Amino acid sequence: MLDLIVQGGPIFGHPEADAVGVRCGRIAAVGRAQDLAALRGPKTQVFRLEGRPLLPGFFDAHLHFLKIGLDRTFFVDLSSARTLSEALELLRARAKERPGEWVVGRGWDESRWPEKRYLERADLDRAVPRQPCCAVRVDGHMMVANTLALARCVRPEGELVDRERGFVFEDAIPEVLALVRPSQEALVEAVAEASRYAASLGVTAAADMDTDAQALRAYALAEHRGLLRTRLFTYIKAELLPHLAGLGIRKGFGSAFLRLAGVKAFADGSIGAKTAALFEPYRGEMGKGRVLLGRGELARLWRKVMEAELQLAVHAIGDRAIEEVLAAARLAGVGALDRHRVEHLELPTPHQLDRLKELGLVASMQPNFLQWSGPGRMYEDRLGPARDARIDPHRWVLDRGIPLAFGSDGMPLGPLYGIGLALDPPYYPQRVTWEEAIRAYTYGAAYAAFAEEELGSLEVGKWADFVVLSGDPGRTPPRDLRVEATFVAGELAFSR
Ligand SMILES: [Zn+2]
Repeated sequence: MLDLIVQGGPIFGHPEADAVGVRCGRIAAVGRAQDLAALRGPKTQVFRLEGRPLLPGFFDAHLHFLKIGLDRTFFVDLSSARTLSEALELLRARAKERPGEWVVGRGWDESRWPEKRYLERADLDRAVPRQPCCAVRVDGHMMVANTLALARCVRPEGELVDRERGFVFEDAIPEVLALVRPSQEALVEAVAEASRYAASLGVTAAADMDTDAQALRAYALAEHRGLLRTRLFTYIKAELLPHLAGLGIRKGFGSAFLRLAGVKAFADGSIGAKTAALFEPYRGEMGKGRVLLGRGELARLWRKVMEAELQLAVHAIGDRAIEEVLAAARLAGVGALDRHRVEHLELPTPHQLDRLKELGLVASMQPNFLQWSGPGRMYEDRLGPARDARIDPHRWVLDRGIPLAFGSDGMPLGPLYGIGLALDPPYYPQRVTWEEAIRAYTYGAAYAAFAEEELGSLEVGKWADFVVLSGDPGRTPPRDLRVEATFVAGELAFSR
């Protein structure tokens, strides 16, 4: 007997079917509702699609899960404060709620306040006298800190630190933020919130990038308490590789909700910060960005990753960084069946993509980044129109048969946003179909994490992770669609 039957709408990937049956958290049948009725018992639950389509749960191939949760639970959003006193009130309330914790505000903007002045140390000391508190201005270039927070900042008084008024500028800001250590409870709460939020957007699995010990521990605790309902595949910070190798932990270690997949490395930076490594300079400048890990070093790391039977996910955005990755793969002896992954892959040349295909590398791309492409946008400003026109070349990737995985990098979380951009990119030749986009955000991402046997499509034997959309993605633009329900292992994780 089935535990659950979902019926009455199109089933993605199965044009002949209108129902899916679930037993013990897994898909047990896909077919016509009248045929599944024979498997219906007194305890079988029925969910009616009422014509709405059923899709596999979305698998976000690149995000930072803990950060998504902390953004929603730990940091105090000051962008809505209409006055300076209102901003202080928000900080004071949080301090009361969480005594002993750091209080970190973000997004304040004095130009919108009647007081027309910056927050200062004395203000924060009044509002939050007994715990460290700081608040970053909306532009991210300035922060104000209270006396207790400043006492922990070792940078001397000077250009970047004004202790009298409590101002901290530019490079000194991340130094102060690095001191902020949310408590274990706050971290677990953040994971739980990230999981709830992901479910509300239809995300049932994700590859977590740059996972560190603090995040891994928080995920494990949240899972232990049943609060982690998103299947996480973790790509650990490269400097932790010796620990994994020392323990003999290989890819796949873990549970149904928390699994170790591999190691994350960086070949370059970002286009926004002009640190992505390019063959030709940034528009109107001499600088070509910077290779962080050249072919020799990267090849050495790659070999160690393979020896440990782990997967490498390497961040490479600019064409020059991608070149280093391809050369490193050759040096390391990466084989066509090894399935390592390149993260972002924003500016490859067609020839580089041919070699990527030969090496069996997966393209892990974020269609969200197209928000910065097109006339007058940031990528065009940094790269000029010719290079902007070949950024995020999804079509080139698919036409070569390179496995494509879509993710959001949390900018913002939510597959429908990225899918919308992939269907309607600023440069039309790179357009993909809605089936291709959904496949990249489900099966493609599962394949990229060696999870395609269990996730990524609606097949008998796979986990019953799926989403109900409000309408037909073939007819309705994604921006007009929403996720109506999300199931994880056959259980309702979200319902509108
Ligand atoms: Zn990222």
